[in-house]
Amino acid sequence: MNTATRKPLPLPGGHGKVLLHSCCATCSGELIEAMRASAIDFTIFFYNPNIHPVQEYELRKNENIRFARQFGIAFVDADYDSDNWFARARGMEHEPERGIRCTMCFDMRLERTALYAHEHGFAVIATSLGISRWKNLQQVNDCGQRAASRYPGLTYWDHNWRKDGGSARSIEIARREHFYRQEYCGCIYSLREANARRAAQGRERAGPGGKD
Ligand code: SF4
Repeated sequence: MNTATRKPLPLPGGHGKVLLHSCCATCSGELIEAMRASAIDFTIFFYNPNIHPVQEYELRKNENIRFARQFGIAFVDADYDSDNWFARARGMEHEPERGIRCTMCFDMRLERTALYAHEHGFAVIATSLGISRWKNLQQVNDCGQRAASRYPGLTYWDHNWRKDGGSARSIEIARREHFYRQEYCGCIYSLREANARRAAQGRERAGPGGKD
């Protein structure tokens, strides 16, 4: 589906300015194209201190900046405060993906998104985190609602970006743009899990840029 055939997206409450938390270019590509097609005024907010190591973080961030620049979309490069992320993850090192460590991780990223939105006049926040089928959409949405509820007048947009062909378009955009495709969710613990799975399948280890 190209931009001409997309249905316009209704913004919650009719608000016009969205702060889009992006976890990576691959996940946010579809959201970016959908918002552009609906003439929504939005800014990309990159705050992902979970990504390990820093080379992988820079790779994912720079890929996202490259895509945003093509369309002149404003891009906020927030802190890489990974020390804070590790402090919050303490005691959850062996939790499985989709468990309480991921709730903490979504909370942390969306809390910062909500704070920035509140301080800079955005009425709506959204995130690319829920488009991946590896994520629990309800878990992501609960974290988004919790973050937005900290500030009066701020709304979390719980649109299901996978629906109406969103998942398929997301893959098409990633192929078309030759996005870097990460081999693990982001944190050091997800890298460990990915490598355990790969070892069991007799595959090479994953790492920054796809290799150790
Ligand atoms: S697996 Fe992904 S969502 Fe969960 S804590 Fe790690 S980086 Fe965050």
